[in-house]
Amino acid sequence: MSPSDKWLALLEELGAVQNGHFLLSSGRHSERYVQCAKVLEDPQHAAAVGGELARRLRGDVDRVVSPPLGGILVGYEVARGLRRPFQFPERGADNLFQLRRGFSIHPGERVAVIEDVITTGRTTRELMALVRGYGAEPVCVGAIVDRSESHEVEGLPIQALVRLEIPTYAYADCPLCARGAPLTQPGSRKQAPEGAS
Ligand code: ZN
Repeated sequence: MSPSDKWLALLEELGAVQNGHFLLSSGRHSERYVQCAKVLEDPQHAAAVGGELARRLRGDVDRVVSPPLGGILVGYEVARGLRRPFQFPERGADNLFQLRRGFSIHPGERVAVIEDVITTGRTTRELMALVRGYGAEPVCVGAIVDRSESHEVEGLPIQALVRLEIPTYAYADCPLCARGAPLTQPGSRKQAPEGAS
């Protein structure tokens, strides 16, 4: 079993990666669903995941930042592994990230940006902009699951425990619908209505 398979097996065992037939919030269908909170809900697993990511990150880092809410637990555990401080921003009235609670980043610092899942990289780029706004430099990007197509954000490779390509389908083109597989709406115990989109 490759290291990546080992982590995928753990994520599947804990329900953080689910296989089935899912109705996504976008209305599209998919055969896999990722919910990293399911691995982070157990502090021992959160520590294992964060510790492994910390080992894989390259270079010296002065500080770790993660976006709320999903990234905070894993970012905190990575910071523990790197023995560095951890901070998280919040969204202001303008919906932009800002540091509150007395948090600050010093000019020239090297900062690791850690997330639970990276899909489009949009949040990662927002966080990198925040870091640069303090005159500091984002030097590495890490995630539990990399669902991106490019596997990098602004030229920084994504260090991830698991890399997943998860195709999504419109209802009309969904092979799982064609097989009559029951459709599940993640986050809900109810089965999704027939043909929901
Ligand atoms: Zn379907």
